[in-house]
Amino acid sequence: MVVVMQPGAGDEDIARVVRTVEEAGGEAFVSRGKQRTIIGLVGETQTFLSLPLQALPGVESVVQIGRPYKLVSAESHPEPSSIHVGGVEIGRRGFTLILGPCAVESAEQTLESARMAKEAGAHILRGGAYKPRTSPYTFQGLGRDGLEILAAAREETGLPFVTEVLETRDVELVASYADMLQVGARNMQNFSLLKEVGRSGKPVLLKRGFSNTIEEWLLAAEYIAQQGNLQIVLCERGIRTFEPSTRNTLDISAVPVAQSLSHLPVVVDPSHASGKRALVPPLARAAVAAGADGVMIDIHPEPTRALVDGAQALSGEEAKRLAQDLQLLAALLGRSTETRVRA
Ligand code: PEP
Ligand code: MN
Repeated sequence: MVVVMQPGAGDEDIARVVRTVEEAGGEAFVSRGKQRTIIGLVGETQTFLSLPLQALPGVESVVQIGRPYKLVSAESHPEPSSIHVGGVEIGRRGFTLILGPCAVESAEQTLESARMAKEAGAHILRGGAYKPRTSPYTFQGLGRDGLEILAAAREETGLPFVTEVLETRDVELVASYADMLQVGARNMQNFSLLKEVGRSGKPVLLKRGFSNTIEEWLLAAEYIAQQGNLQIVLCERGIRTFEPSTRNTLDISAVPVAQSLSHLPVVVDPSHASGKRALVPPLARAAVAAGADGVMIDIHPEPTRALVDGAQALSGEEAKRLAQDLQLLAALLGRSTETRVRA
């Protein structure tokens, strides 16, 4: 890190910064220019971040040279990591297909969706038992009953499942059923939830908040990693922009950017990004082309009757067709889509 002093900073101000850094166990190298002085810090960035350097008299700015996240950074772990969910590996040279309904509405609808997912070649089933809804008057999910239904669907199809947990107090319960915990876009900066899913020891699918930068997303992942849980998959699901023709704007560049900054796998959710069924296949294909480690897509046995997000859900036939395209594209790019579910 580098501390930039104000042009009028005096010797006393400079000495105070040096003293603060040295007392914390770091080294400070003062470089006096004609206009201003800069002080280079050597030592643990994490320690310096906890010092009130910015507040010291005469300090203009504190500039961080390295990345503010450590455990999830590509610097700390140059090889891409792979995450295990049930018997499925996400990352490395594989391409993972996650299919399922937005919400668990009933046993029938979920089992039928799980069969459709399996038939299309999905590796993992998705489905929300706890739904983060914009309006409190809309369907909020079946809660624990929904988890039971997802477990039954896993039993029948052999597909592990990922499901969202909304609250810290539910982490233990959801983790006792799920193969992977999803932290949704709205909760990406719910730091107590991040710590709790970190402590759960379960793999975590961390969606990008729709108003969050890639750096904030990686710092959210760092919260989970700090608890000793590096089983994290990042999911780009669209961000808010000025463009109203899609529900969100899929930030496709987030895929290679996040992959260059972090060793964690990155998947794309084209369903929540677009909100429109017709846009899901082209965006999913774009995700493969951009190098995503997988896609997560909403499907429904009867999209027009879905309680949540029917407009973006694919039918079984549509999912099958898309999965075939994705498999071809992935193979072309040297990625394997073999079903990696262990029997
Ligand atoms: C979901 O995947 O069901 C969901 C609610 O997504 P997001 O958090 O990205 O809106
Ligand atoms: Mn949804």
